Amino acid sequence: MDEKFLGKMADKSSEEHYSPFPEGYKIGKTKYVIITGSVISGIGKGIFSSALGKTLQDRGLKVAPIKVEAYLNADSGTLSPYRHGEVFVLDDGTETDMDLGSYERFLNMKLTKDNFTTHGQIYQKLIEKERTGDYHGRDVQYIPHVTGEAKYVLRNLAVKSKADIVLVEIGGTVGDFENLFAMESARQMIYEEGSENVCLVNLTYIVEPNHLGEFKSKAAQLGLRELMRLGLQPDLIVCRSQHPVTETIKEKISLNANVPIEKVFNTYDVGNIYELPLSFREQGIDEAIMKVLGWNDKYKANGSKSLKEWTDKNIVKKKGEITIGIAGKYTGTSDTYISIVKALEHCSTKLKANVNVKWIETTEIEKGKTTAEAELKDVDGLIIPGGFGTRGIEGKIACAKYVREKDIPFLGICYGFQMAVVEFARNVCGIKGASTEEVKKDDNTNVICILPEQEEVKDLGGTLRLGGFDIKLKKDTKAWELYGKKDSARERFRHRFNVNTKFIDKLEKCGLIFSGMAPEKRIMQILELKDHPFFIGIQYHAEFTSRPLNPNPVYLGLVKAAIKNKK
Ligand code: GLN
Repeated sequence: MDEKFLGKMADKSSEEHYSPFPEGYKIGKTKYVIITGSVISGIGKGIFSSALGKTLQDRGLKVAPIKVEAYLNADSGTLSPYRHGEVFVLDDGTETDMDLGSYERFLNMKLTKDNFTTHGQIYQKLIEKERTGDYHGRDVQYIPHVTGEAKYVLRNLAVKSKADIVLVEIGGTVGDFENLFAMESARQMIYEEGSENVCLVNLTYIVEPNHLGEFKSKAAQLGLRELMRLGLQPDLIVCRSQHPVTETIKEKISLNANVPIEKVFNTYDVGNIYELPLSFREQGIDEAIMKVLGWNDKYKANGSKSLKEWTDKNIVKKKGEITIGIAGKYTGTSDTYISIVKALEHCSTKLKANVNVKWIETTEIEKGKTTAEAELKDVDGLIIPGGFGTRGIEGKIACAKYVREKDIPFLGICYGFQMAVVEFARNVCGIKGASTEEVKKDDNTNVICILPEQEEVKDLGGTLRLGGFDIKLKKDTKAWELYGKKDSARERFRHRFNVNTKFIDKLEKCGLIFSGMAPEKRIMQILELKDHPFFIGIQYHAEFTSRPLNPNPVYLGLVKAAIKNKK
């Protein structure tokens, strides 16, 4: 379809083809790869999309990823990490889903709010428009208005990023009620952009029930049928399974979904996610996408050489082994702290040492079911991660005390930083009952208090101190050394409380060093101890900027110290 025609219709919101176009949009300039999932959720669409993006980047294509979340929350900020995995914060302060973390790490990109949307956000925009009379008396409908806005988000990213390919990951599973209109928007995109400009990929799950010991493809067939029932014909199918699937399974999928067998691929459980891009290349997945998009001769891959090099660098032989404890409260699922785990992984590769994680549930320590000593005596280093609320904090404080006294390398992140301050205030400065305002009101002993700018804030969503801020580093400190002896660093924050300025002098007199702070405000951002092998607290989340082959310096410092400390 011609964009002039579509653009014209967009001017008149009474038209049935309501498709607002961002300025300067040109059909075919940017192409789209849309990824949907079928059968079950949780099959790793985020990792799949990221690894696929990597293969496209390797061809010299400029890739812009976007996650379309089906839920009605305006962003991921108010979601419990226990239910939905970690909240990943972008440099511009957008609180997103952990898949954005995968994109940033695999594609080595710094993403923005344009790389993330939710249905809640789309509705919010629509209702705002309706209230300002933008629809000129017209009833506002799912089609064309909701779908129109959803398509606008994708096209907006295309224009802003100037990408060759926008890689769209639609959250949820085919057949979900929630993502129906995202699916419908995808159908319309294919129609409007032209099938040579959009490649639809379905990641489906092939079950292998234990009691049968063989693959069963019916669930996948039904998922694909449902996709086609929505008017969406996949161009490529990738079967996700535990073990490599048989040709027979691929044949069944091919026949049932009108997809030639050479476009049915397989990705199964691998030991290491860094093997995926190379495996996709070797199977010809990105090559098949190029064909669908009519780029037969353009953006040719130089074989597997560069991807293989990248894989080899990420999968190095490691000798030696250390254990890092992570003392938090959502330890039932590692997705809660996924970027921390990844940051440790990056250090492990760089330093060629296996890093095991020991999960320590601080509520158990708090309830007296176990002790900090019992949990920590066999770890080589400790992380106390970010968190909110009262539950488990006494356990965290007990852990901070133990590692401070026993010279065990320590990294406190955000709430972990604040807990280290509380512990130090109580046990070194002698401030009895020292705590944080997040837990109790008490002007005389709260060494952590609400940020002044936060005092009047009532809403919960999007109101924390969020995103990338500069940190002024104090010369000749450990932090300054870690960041390569530079004057400043930039990291990502997500907090409402901070060190109470009333107590800074006292804490410093007792030996706590604030080695990083906000340039213009009195917000303490890094703390450290002098006579300790490695005791660092950071008010920010250094894990969000750690990358494969380029670990965050603070994490690298911790792991190095832990290796040295290994008993
Ligand atoms: N609850 C603390 C605050 O809001 C710490 C936040 C965090 O760990 N992300 O300041």
